[in-house]
Amino acid sequence: MDLKNQRVLVVGLGKSGLAAAMFLRAQGARVTVSDTRSAVSLANQLPALLDAGIMVESGGHGLLTFRRQDLIVVSPGVPMTTPEVKQAVAFGLPVIGELELASRFLQGRVVAITGSNGKTTTTSLLGKIFKDAGVITQVGGNIGLPVIDLVAGSSPETTNVLEVSSFQLETIEEFHPQIAVVLNITPDHLDRHGSFENYAAAKARITERQTAEDFLILNGEDKATQMIAAKTKAQIFWFSGRRPIKQGAFVHGESVVFLAKEGGKAEPVMPVSEIHLKGSHNVENVLAAVCAARLAGVSAEEIRKAVGSFKAVEHRLELVKTVRGVEYYNDSKATNVDAAMKAVSSFAGGIHLILGGKDKDSDYGVMAELLKERVKAVYTIGSAAEKIERQLHGVVKMVQAGTMQKAVGEAAKAAVAGDVVLLAPACASFDQFDNYEHRGRVFRQIVQDLS
Ligand code: ADP
Repeated sequence: MDLKNQRVLVVGLGKSGLAAAMFLRAQGARVTVSDTRSAVSLANQLPALLDAGIMVESGGHGLLTFRRQDLIVVSPGVPMTTPEVKQAVAFGLPVIGELELASRFLQGRVVAITGSNGKTTTTSLLGKIFKDAGVITQVGGNIGLPVIDLVAGSSPETTNVLEVSSFQLETIEEFHPQIAVVLNITPDHLDRHGSFENYAAAKARITERQTAEDFLILNGEDKATQMIAAKTKAQIFWFSGRRPIKQGAFVHGESVVFLAKEGGKAEPVMPVSEIHLKGSHNVENVLAAVCAARLAGVSAEEIRKAVGSFKAVEHRLELVKTVRGVEYYNDSKATNVDAAMKAVSSFAGGIHLILGGKDKDSDYGVMAELLKERVKAVYTIGSAAEKIERQLHGVVKMVQAGTMQKAVGEAAKAAVAGDVVLLAPACASFDQFDNYEHRGRVFRQIVQDLS
């Protein structure tokens, strides 16, 4: 792909949009960026862009800006339904995302991980397994560095472990991972994808360019994921935490095992007790990573060592502190209902659950049975509070806390030794916080200050 003197428009100036613009400029393209935010709110990015000779349109998109282009690169934060983007597509202009752009330049092997939940955990774990085993590895995508920033450091010997979101997969064309993992597909981002079917279809695109030489790793216990099996040309491997499967990774007795071939003999990888992550969902993440690592040629012994020394990623069911026998867990990254349910399922009972934030058109009612079984009280915060209270009315004790401070305070008062105070809000954070990390840090600080 020769970008010299090509007119390229980058839509959306998030982290990956900015990186894409800089990359395109370095390739000699004539780059314009367009963002709906005002020049004032883009003040941090503007000088570097202008210095690099990139034109900036702020405060909205101009229809003409979208016409005079050879290529349009859309950021994952910008919906494909944006009128200017739709029109560019209608005009037949090539419209791709940053992942697609990057994959045209990235060298080496690509291992891509998607799913509704567990992407970051599995990507980080897999990156560690490769690195510890001495494989030349780069990790990026939806986590850490944008994929475009991995291009410069890549060579034919590199293994690129990429976390990819449904938004990134919406705008691919030739993206072709040699190993693809779909962890699970449960309702999330329905506000943006419109329907569960659209969302699942975007995730399924991960395997679109795979061939019979490639591997596709799927969750054997997840219906929506299983459907992808019918759509692939790749060799399918499964993982399951519940039962033996034909080919892939599963738990057998007290051990994680890998079965390379249908009808073959399962190879022991490690005892489950050596996994230092809470919850059966994390065992699933480990199984997916084990499967990918074995298929990439890492030995069982090396995998065992790497997994055994892997700790929870920040804000993912992370133990903050134990105060008077009460454990405080930060799972601020549980930004959807399924992740919150997985968090609750990780404890036998005695849970004081902090729920709420910005709603994503979610159905909280599906939590009813699980909450009844394990949760002593729910403490609601943020703008989704009223909806949650309505949908879970009469299910468990409900405390209208409003703020994180009040929620932790009330939960701390009510909890007795052996209980768990769990932040797994099932919502986005943007109503009260900058992002989920900010929310997690605020929770952690309040907990640290408890005496
Ligand atoms: P992602 O990058 O897909 O958002 P994370 O690893 O950051 O995934 O985890 C997001 C949330 O989902 C956390 O609350 C975590 O505890 C929970 N989670 C992690 N793995 C899984 C899984 N396999 N299934 C369901 N929930 C999970």
